[in-house]
Amino acid sequence: MTRFHPVTPQVIDDLKNIVGADNISTAQAEIDLHAQDAGFHPAHPAEVVVWGITAQQVADVLKLANTHCIPVTPWGVGTGLEGNSIPLYGGILLSLERMNTIIEVYPDDFQVTVQPGIGHKDLNEKLARYGLFFPPDPGANATIGGMLANNAAGIRTVKYGASKDNVLKMQVALADGRLIHTGSRSIKQAAGYNLVQLFVGSEGTLGVITEATLKLVPVPQFMSAIIASFPTVELAIDTVVAVRGSGIDVAALEFIDVTNTKAMNEAGTDIAPYPTLLMEIHAAHEETLAADMALVRQICEETGAVSFRATANNAERKVLWNARHHAYETLQRNHPGQKIFIMDVAVPISAYPELIAFSRQTIEDYGVIGYMKGHAGDGNIHVELPFGDETTFAKVKQVNSAIVHQAIAMGGTSTGEHGVGIGKAAYMAQEHGEALDVMRDIKHLLDPNGILNPGKVLPE
Ligand SMILES: Cc1cc2nc3c(=O)[nH]c(=O)nc-3n(C[C@H](O)[C@H](O)[C@H](O)COP(=O)(O)OP(=O)(O)OC[C@H]3O[C@@H](n4cnc5c(N)ncnc54)[C@H](O)[C@@H]3O)c2cc1C
Repeated sequence: MTRFHPVTPQVIDDLKNIVGADNISTAQAEIDLHAQDAGFHPAHPAEVVVWGITAQQVADVLKLANTHCIPVTPWGVGTGLEGNSIPLYGGILLSLERMNTIIEVYPDDFQVTVQPGIGHKDLNEKLARYGLFFPPDPGANATIGGMLANNAAGIRTVKYGASKDNVLKMQVALADGRLIHTGSRSIKQAAGYNLVQLFVGSEGTLGVITEATLKLVPVPQFMSAIIASFPTVELAIDTVVAVRGSGIDVAALEFIDVTNTKAMNEAGTDIAPYPTLLMEIHAAHEETLAADMALVRQICEETGAVSFRATANNAERKVLWNARHHAYETLQRNHPGQKIFIMDVAVPISAYPELIAFSRQTIEDYGVIGYMKGHAGDGNIHVELPFGDETTFAKVKQVNSAIVHQAIAMGGTSTGEHGVGIGKAAYMAQEHGEALDVMRDIKHLLDPNGILNPGKVLPE
């Protein structure tokens, strides 16, 4: 028995009055399009799809839903991987995709205020004329609202931080229809509880982000890419530690396990079949870049690299990152008719080789196929596990569970960047202990009827 009420014809009329007839749909095609994200979790339909256009409309939709006890699931563009935006309990799918404008650029403050539905790639294209960019990059053209809600990270986190590190201020619509501002445009802030960071990573379970002021950085003048392969994972990770310890402010430090080099090469690179590091360095001067590249080469030679290639050529650099970003699609193509269970955990860097060895052994023990890659500079690893039938799916889930438990036991976390969604809720008690009760209290305070994205983050 669900505790929620259905969306009645009267509620549909009320929603039309709030957002206008053009911004609401019960057409099957729209329901289907918004029933599943980019991950492996099964689809579930909403009863109605509603597009907010203004912050006040979003707040009014929440107030109406709260009064009638109807679940509301916020939606960016559905590139999440943990079922974060699947409307598990039906109700209203609230898309923010049409709230996609830049409200104001503050070039001298290195800041921009945006609506939540703008894609980060679209934002960066528009910011290029100011010589500025918003650095978090999850690969897909995710929305700023979806990135903040999931605290998305990606390849550049090692230098620029995750989404949480690049936001100063937000406007948030609460379940009861209040619209609040949190944070300020000052870089330094010490006034009261940090509600900005409470809403970041809350996956739409505490409120809906209707506006955000983001930090920007100058587009680097000079960039280089480096590919270095090593005989063992341990030597590759020794190199990660040495490069970070050298003081070079490396902008990307990615690990590609030997299992994933083939998929990368099919997407355009020529990587030797060994554990490999992909790096990117940003600099304001050509000489600084050359000096940093020389130092990285020296470190890689000292740690026993079997191959090393560096380039400051922009086209070659783009081929490399394009292949990295499309490795997931390449895997999908190589496993036709199958789904890919993509898992995400993170540990302290020193535990990284042990976690990779553990993951490899677990994959072998269960007799499934697994591909590994990760944002090594942050201790973040992804294991991609294809499955095409229930028996393999059951094994894949056991592999996932074993690796998540191991990562938490090593002082890490069940998710470095994809969020909890549906898939990681079961591990929250192990990871947070009594703090989980405090999270439940916060949820109850902000959303007493539990209408906001039910079934996510907190285990039921
Ligand atoms: C090929 C591929 C590669 C990826 N690589 C990475 C990676 O390297 N790093 C990484 O971090 N992620 C990665 N992702 C995952 C994904 O891009 C991120 O999780 C992203 O943050 C999702 O954004 P979205 O706009 O698609 O949001 P959605 O998937 O639509 O929603 C994500 C969550 O945010 C909530 N939400 C959306 N908008 C709002 C709002 N305005 N207010 C409140 N809640 C909201 C939703 O309810 C949901 O819980 C990858 C995905 C794909 C498909």
